[in-house]
Amino acid sequence: MADYDVVIIGGGPGGYIAAERLAHAGKSVLLAEKEFVGGTCLNVGCIPTKSLLNSAKLYDHALHSQGYGVTVSDVSYDWGKIQDWKSQVVSTLVGGVTAMLRKLKVEIVAQPGTLIAPGVVEVGGTRHTADHVIIATGSVPVMPPIPGTTDNPYVVDSTALLAVPTVPKRLVVIGGGVIGVEFASLFGALGCEVTVIELMPEIVPVFEPDLAARMRQSMPTVTFRLGCLVKAVEDYTVVFAEGDGPDERITGDVILMAVGRKALLDGWGARESGLELDRRGVVVDERMRTNLPNVWAVGDVTGRVLLAHAAYRMGEVAVANILDPTAHTRGEIMRWDTVPWAVYSLPEAAGVGLTEAEAKRRGYDTVTATGALVLSGRFVAENGLSKAGAVKLVAEKGTGVVLGIHMLGPYAPETIWGAAAILESEYTVDDLRQVVFPHPTVSEGIREAVWAIRV
Ligand SMILES: Cc1cc2nc3c(=O)[nH]c(=O)nc-3n(C[C@H](O)[C@H](O)[C@H](O)COP(=O)(O)OP(=O)(O)OC[C@H]3O[C@@H](n4cnc5c(N)ncnc54)[C@H](O)[C@@H]3O)c2cc1C
Repeated sequence: MADYDVVIIGGGPGGYIAAERLAHAGKSVLLAEKEFVGGTCLNVGCIPTKSLLNSAKLYDHALHSQGYGVTVSDVSYDWGKIQDWKSQVVSTLVGGVTAMLRKLKVEIVAQPGTLIAPGVVEVGGTRHTADHVIIATGSVPVMPPIPGTTDNPYVVDSTALLAVPTVPKRLVVIGGGVIGVEFASLFGALGCEVTVIELMPEIVPVFEPDLAARMRQSMPTVTFRLGCLVKAVEDYTVVFAEGDGPDERITGDVILMAVGRKALLDGWGARESGLELDRRGVVVDERMRTNLPNVWAVGDVTGRVLLAHAAYRMGEVAVANILDPTAHTRGEIMRWDTVPWAVYSLPEAAGVGLTEAEAKRRGYDTVTATGALVLSGRFVAENGLSKAGAVKLVAEKGTGVVLGIHMLGPYAPETIWGAAAILESEYTVDDLRQVVFPHPTVSEGIREAVWAIRV
């Protein structure tokens, strides 16, 4: 008999949700976590960024409250206290997850784990056997080999930027993806001079480009340089060029490298154990099985969708299929195309499914419509007419099957789960027209788009 039903390597969202679900089902679980329970998300990712962004939004609201009849004098912020609040939020949530796992009798070992072979894991020098092993080691930031970036104290990753002791006067962000845009928005709102340098023609590549452009235009404190290649960093000066243009230089007190993250494949036996790997990470099927028997992989380490809620779902899918080998026949599989994404910047944005361009690339004949949020009473009451807000719907011509929903504006990250359910259920435009949306809400933008579309 094996020492444990399941050993999990990595205690981030993918690993800890799997541990929780397995323990609930009465399984004995050992969770090896080398650094911090809660992983990147709780400690240096989703949660601290949202805490800092919330403080920045409060500051922004206070600065602009007069138009809404509220006078706030002497508006200022204290970065030290903002950081304290962030730390308090993180420790509350990490403490909550740790306590919950302990209550469920999950054995947490604060040591690195290594996959030796199927059913054999070494944790902090001790070998354990298990019926199943789940790999959930997450990801690390991509640090491209740009000359002058290695060992340059001015070039930092997101973890270091979260902890800066003062708000920099000038910040240069290399990379206009979700993480880069959130940090740009955060520091831009706090009065920092921010420049984002992005290689692609538009920011946030998963977003509909026309909405992404409006999002960009709604961040007046941030300068965006698109289609620009960073060639080198000289101390705190970034050397870049737009297309074939001449070299340009921009100086920052801090330079954030935010060109993406990649699966963590070092230090836990990824290669030595014979796991199949590809350029993204550990290769898994839709049940989260790897090529090795009873070895599963979930979350960022698969390199598929690097988001915490995707890691949660992957963890749940793996557990469902461990507990019941027929679970996949009941729909317990990973559906990658219906995982929503969100950006918690000012303004916020979220989306699920295909962009118009991606749908066309996959061979769909598409129709689209965009609903302006100024048609939503709540949006106007809270923002007036000048702020950006829109919903874009992508559907298949003829059948009317909804392929993508993209939202720019307040509450988008809170609303997008409904759009994900619409895509999961393969709703058509006609189905969606029969859904009742609460009034007045910003989500009515979806309704406006669905009545505007002609399939
Ligand atoms: C700045 C930032 C902001 C983000 N914001 C969001 C957001 O708003 N929403 C969202 O959905 N996603 C966000 N993400 C992404 C999110 O954090 C990740 O997708 C998520 O954490 C992935 O979960 P995971 O369990 O796969 O990996 P992780 O959370 O990275 O956890 C992996 C864990 O494994 C541990 N580990 C690694 N190797 C070993 C080993 N050999 N032995 C034992 N333990 C090991 C690590 O210490 C780590 O704790 C953000 C990321 C960053 C960096």
